[in-house]
Amino acid sequence: MRDRIGSSALLIITSVSKVALLTSMLAFASNTGSDELTTIMAPGGVIDVFTAREEGAAAREDLIGWVNAASKSVSTYFGRYPVPHVAVRITTSEGRGVHNGRTFGSPVAHITISVGRKTTLADLNEDWTMTHEMVHLAFPSVAERHHWIEEGTATYVEPLARVQSGILEPSKMWSDLIRDLPQGLPRPGDQGLDVTHTWGRTYWGGALFCLLADVEIHQRTRNQKGLEDALRGILAAGGNITQDWPLERALRVGDEATGTRVLDGDTRSGKSL
Ligand SMILES: [Zn+2]
Repeated sequence: MRDRIGSSALLIITSVSKVALLTSMLAFASNTGSDELTTIMAPGGVIDVFTAREEGAAAREDLIGWVNAASKSVSTYFGRYPVPHVAVRITTSEGRGVHNGRTFGSPVAHITISVGRKTTLADLNEDWTMTHEMVHLAFPSVAERHHWIEEGTATYVEPLARVQSGILEPSKMWSDLIRDLPQGLPRPGDQGLDVTHTWGRTYWGGALFCLLADVEIHQRTRNQKGLEDALRGILAAGGNITQDWPLERALRVGDEATGTRVLDGDTRSGKSL
């Protein structure tokens, strides 16, 4: 999931020291007031991870290993970490599993997520959520009606990134994709991705747009380029989550990176899917 704004309190931070301010605020806002900070260095990025010192919380080394694995997957897909700095705050919740992942681009890039007390190391190793949230860092913030492209890229790229880093078997990725993509198909009365904002259309309709674009780019470039090159091009032009861009600019920059008109041309799914 991706959100525009954290809280009104965060909006007032505008100075050059906002990273340090946000970092201390995230720590201060913890349930216990005693978050532990671990810094992970990724290619092109620094990840400050705040974990709660709480009774029953998952072991810190397991959580750090989980964040580290997601960082590697995302860095592999994009060729580098998407943003120079991000704060990741992990809170503790009841039950088992990873919940409530949210990624923000303002006032600085940050991710909040919760891990249940009964979550096992195996659960973390199989989790996709942290990678999904980190993929959000790699696309500019666009108008609300285009939210499908933000969730679509994160949904489509996440398993690919984990395959590329060796965490996920390709056969598992494809079987999951075949199972889940039909949720993105338009239903009777659908008015296109820019208008029909259901969960299925936003996440899987967006992912379907990405798959079709990926195939089309491969076909038109004789397998020399793919959606990965388009997304890397957008990132190289400065289009990360901290930047507000018109969608048309992102699609145009992506097309320039592949030498095609796939994204901004006839595949444009807001109109045709
Ligand atoms: Zn998301």
